[in-house]
Amino acid sequence: MKVMKFGGTSVGKSERMHQVAQLITRDNEPKIVVLSALSGTTNTLVAIGEALSKGDKQEAKQVIDNLEQHYKNFITALVKQDTSREKANAIIAEHFEFLNIITKISFNEALNKDILAQGELMSTKLFCVYLEEIGVKHFLLPALEFMSIDANDEPQLPSIRQKLTALLEQHKDIALFITQGYICRNARGEVDNLKRGGSDYTASLVAAAANASVCEIWTDIDGMHNNDPRVVKKTIPVEQLSFEEAAELAYFGAKILHPTCIWPAQQEKVPVKLLNTMQPEAAGTVITKDAGSVGVKAIAAKDGIIAINIKSTRMLLAYGFLRKIFEVFEKYRTPIDMITTSEVAVSVTIDNPAFLDAIVKELEPFGNIEVDRDQTIVSIVGNDIAQTQDILSKLFEALKPVPVRMVSYGGSRHNVSLLIPGNYKTETLQLLNKGLFGLE
Ligand code: ADP
Ligand code: ASP
Ligand code: MG
Repeated sequence: MKVMKFGGTSVGKSERMHQVAQLITRDNEPKIVVLSALSGTTNTLVAIGEALSKGDKQEAKQVIDNLEQHYKNFITALVKQDTSREKANAIIAEHFEFLNIITKISFNEALNKDILAQGELMSTKLFCVYLEEIGVKHFLLPALEFMSIDANDEPQLPSIRQKLTALLEQHKDIALFITQGYICRNARGEVDNLKRGGSDYTASLVAAAANASVCEIWTDIDGMHNNDPRVVKKTIPVEQLSFEEAAELAYFGAKILHPTCIWPAQQEKVPVKLLNTMQPEAAGTVITKDAGSVGVKAIAAKDGIIAINIKSTRMLLAYGFLRKIFEVFEKYRTPIDMITTSEVAVSVTIDNPAFLDAIVKELEPFGNIEVDRDQTIVSIVGNDIAQTQDILSKLFEALKPVPVRMVSYGGSRHNVSLLIPGNYKTETLQLLNKGLFGLE
């Protein structure tokens, strides 16, 4: 069994969907195909939710109507036969009727999750109409019947595996399954999701649950690049990454992968491949337990970081101080990314501002608190990077003009992280591209 996931741009145009159908029928290995929503759809659904949460029903209606027109145009190019068009039109009508009803009832967060689920529900159903038209036997596996998260919003692999296996058992004659990325049910049984970009997470969870031979993530670029191609002009694909390296890059901002999508594949040792739908023959990136080589592989950056500095002379020779500080973050379920300490101060970073005020209030009795917003973590990732000769001298040589605020070195063998003011991000990534990779 092989898992193939296609992202938004890979299904965003009718000709791309046609190409996806070709890619999944190139060999006879049984497959589970995970699809995202058409590109732009989830952003639009977010906008609808935002308009409704502000009580602006007119704005919501306008956005819904525009989106409906987009889908009507999409299906005229997707399918040719009248019967297929009728089916596709009926699917669109059903989902847009739902969105229109929602504008008339009172809005709440659970309803918002239902709105966000419409993109993947439509893309998979429309793709199945196309497969039927071209005579490809398949079965649509509803993700809401097997993909679930617990009360802490964490997917539980054993229960996903149990439900998915039972569903696959019921359809032994089928070699091609289609399912929705991103969407799931929560502990209350409501429709929920795996957070933005979550279709990658679905693919990895499905691959782990089905003991797949490989988890292929098909997107709009030929693999994980050495630096962020949205920021830096000249970047090159990385051939091979270990699970640890890929997980660090994903967590620290490489958008090609959802931040936490590597662990399920890693746990079940399923290789992950990053491939380009627009250039299917390109080698892409292979992610396995082996790193392939030692040294710097890639750089990623994560924006919107908040640095909190706690200064206190009471820390001098005191024990238990850090525990008390960490307990505050634990209480507000806010993970800490970076930490540095000195005899009289400790600096930590967080990326979730939701409880910042409450956290600062509870930290105040410990000392003098300073908060810096709009910071960026830049992570330099590679196998045994801390052992790589000259890494720190090269780094600081390259970054002479950048006011580096924190450095994290040695916490993991695969990562050196720097905290810089957000407005230095572009310059930092460009300088490191030259200093570490010789690319300009
Ligand atoms: P999909 O819709 O297929 O899930 P995404 O937009 O989520 O695609 O991810 C692919 C994009 O990730 C690329 O187009 C690229 O702009 C961005 N990206 C950011 N960092 C990297 C990186 N290091 N390597 C490759 N792509 C990256
Ligand atoms: N459609 C969702 C999003 O845009 C999930 C995904 O594409 O991975 O975030
Ligand atoms: Mg994505």
